[in-house]
Amino acid sequence: MKALTPELKDKIYKEIRGKLPPDEAASWMKSLEFLQTENGTLEIPLPNDYFRNWYEKHYKDLIAKTVSEVLGIQPKIIFKIPSDYQGTLFESAAKESGHDPKAPKPHKPAPEAKPPVANANRPKGGTLNSKYTFEQFVVGPCNRLAHAWSMAVAENPGKAYNPLFIHGSVGLGKTHLLQAACHYILAKRPEYSIYYLSCEGFVNDYISAVRSGGYDAFRNKYRSVDVLVIDDIHFLGAGEKQASQEEFFHTFNALHNAQKQIILSSDSPPQDIPTLEDRLVSRFKWGQVARLDSPTFETRMAIIKQTAEWMKKAVPDDVCDFIASSVESNIRDLEGALKNVIGFAEATKKPIDLALAKDSLRDLIGVSAFPVTIPQIQEVISKFFNVKISDLQSKKRVKSVSVPRQIGIYLARSLTSLSLEEIGAAFGGKDHSTVMYSVEKIKQRAHKDRQFTATLNQLTKNVKQGG
Ligand code: ADP
Ligand code: MG
Repeated sequence: MKALTPELKDKIYKEIRGKLPPDEAASWMKSLEFLQTENGTLEIPLPNDYFRNWYEKHYKDLIAKTVSEVLGIQPKIIFKIPSDYQGTLFESAAKESGHDPKAPKPHKPAPEAKPPVANANRPKGGTLNSKYTFEQFVVGPCNRLAHAWSMAVAENPGKAYNPLFIHGSVGLGKTHLLQAACHYILAKRPEYSIYYLSCEGFVNDYISAVRSGGYDAFRNKYRSVDVLVIDDIHFLGAGEKQASQEEFFHTFNALHNAQKQIILSSDSPPQDIPTLEDRLVSRFKWGQVARLDSPTFETRMAIIKQTAEWMKKAVPDDVCDFIASSVESNIRDLEGALKNVIGFAEATKKPIDLALAKDSLRDLIGVSAFPVTIPQIQEVISKFFNVKISDLQSKKRVKSVSVPRQIGIYLARSLTSLSLEEIGAAFGGKDHSTVMYSVEKIKQRAHKDRQFTATLNQLTKNVKQGG
């Protein structure tokens, strides 16, 4: 079989993705590893049995067919999971790799994680947040594979996928996953020594060891751990940190050779970290690279609900929906918005409802300081769709009027605190269930149709800017 160069892998990838609907490709084919073995087999590592069954059922034929089109031979495809490797992965994986797919639901729950402080064997380095466990991690299309890889590594530290490299932009759950892996390992293998710390922590530790003449102790400390977890490794080599990059390189090699697990997080994939030396870039791709993406609406809803539950607060559905619709960027901001609403309710001794949520998030999400009014919305809709305001206020049913009217109703619902009845009255005397129906319909379309979402965003902006 032809040697599977990175270019050919890329080509196979693109072809596979091109054969799937975009959403499915994004969920499942973000990236897969293809490891070519000597006997002409292609091995594709997956995090667990559940994923293996899923890929066998849904994607094996597609992958085999595409590989044969690109390479001109009928390959044998084998999906591998950690238990298949039993420590042999290191040689085969140490070729080169990279990527991160998305996949189905995790197959089994994590064991109960004990609070780290109560564990005498808690990680050295930084402390763990008791909330950052696998149980508290909501799994969705944006993070399925990263979550599954983390669990696979936590179940078999040092046995497969070394290092695990998780990347994604700020607030998407990197620290949460890293710490969840630590909690899990500590609960299951209390005898393990785990070192969890930020890149900054590693660098500072190194610098002070060198200054105080304690280099040997530093070296022994880092090279004797069972699991080394470093958060935000993209800071390595930034500024005056060249020497610590060199030191990290040797630490990495020592631990990897000894089959000790290394878990890293970063804001970008290895090859995009500007200060990182090539030899570390290639090492970071030896194991498994997994990416975190921005959460979808459904995942945002699930996270808000779970966080509210964790905070023991009852938050009505429409408030969750409002926050999930308003804060799309990242999970940290999402939680911030929820906490803001809860804090505001406590401070004002008011119940948590939609009006209060809109009030408390006004500044945060850029809702105009002046309340949006229905005439404002109708004016924007009328201009944008070229329909008469009087038609929007009428009962006319032609599509050219009814769709803009539904959008107007949707905007009124999301940008004002008016009741369903008030909104209905302003748009042709609709009753409260018709208003709800319009809002639902627009929402569903927005979830399916990106172009439409962009139009809604534009209209929202126009309304907030006063036309
Ligand atoms: P990062 O390290 O990528 O900047 P964090 O891990 O600090 O992000 O996550 C930001 C916040 O969002 C944390 O409070 C974390 O618990 C929460 N969070 C992130 N992802 C999830 C998730 N999938 N489910 C539940 N909470 C999450
Ligand atoms: Mg972080």
